[in-house]
Amino acid sequence: MSEELPELAERAERALLNRNGGKAKECTCDELLENLMEFLDSELDEDLCTRYRQHAAQCPRCREASDAEQHIRQVVRRSCAEKAPSTLRLRVESQLTVLRASGVRIVD
Ligand SMILES: [Zn+2]
Repeated sequence: MSEELPELAERAERALLNRNGGKAKECTCDELLENLMEFLDSELDEDLCTRYRQHAAQCPRCREASDAEQHIRQVVRRSCAEKAPSTLRLRVESQLTVLRASGVRIVD
């Protein structure tokens, strides 16, 4: 198992070189999906963003994947922005109190 590690590192390095070499190699679905989070977070440099945007524009599979991920983010952002109703908070707190009183260990 561990003998495979140097080979993996080498492959990662080569992939990185290819990536930096950029334009010579066409962007693959694997490459885009692997960097999807950074791509959507706009954490990549301009060249890579353009590269991935261009690929997604002509690749239904990657477009779908990035749309889905963006949708998830929107939902998460929306639900994080919403505050739980105070009645729910009270209910949870009273339930916790009951549980604590009955000797159940609660991990915070
Ligand atoms: Zn693709």
